[in-house]
Amino acid sequence: MSEKSVLSGILNAKCPRCKEGDLFTHGMFNLKKVSSMHEKCPNCNLQYEKQPGNFYGAMYVSYAFSTGLFLVTAFILYHFFNDPAIEVYLIAILGVALVFFPVNFRFSRIVFLYIIWKSS
Ligand SMILES: [Zn+2]
Repeated sequence: MSEKSVLSGILNAKCPRCKEGDLFTHGMFNLKKVSSMHEKCPNCNLQYEKQPGNFYGAMYVSYAFSTGLFLVTAFILYHFFNDPAIEVYLIAILGVALVFFPVNFRFSRIVFLYIIWKSS
């Protein structure tokens, strides 16, 4: 067991147990492979997906991230862009959701994995 922190493991997308092995097979900005993960930790052999369909739970984490992102976007528009028309909010929020999709997708899976491996 290493002494690395949970936060650094999450930020670096590392295995929730050893915090050494990569979770994903490719970089975040390789959009075609953004979702492809290792089945097991290349370092400690931890099986990431406890059972098929395990990552449905990550949707709840993703929902929380999205809500936070939307609120921040709306706050910025309201306070720094003088409360523009509702269409501007809709387009901006859609754009932000698209731009942050890879980040949101990955971090919701990572956080979810850390949650399920912490509780076992
Ligand atoms: Zn590991």
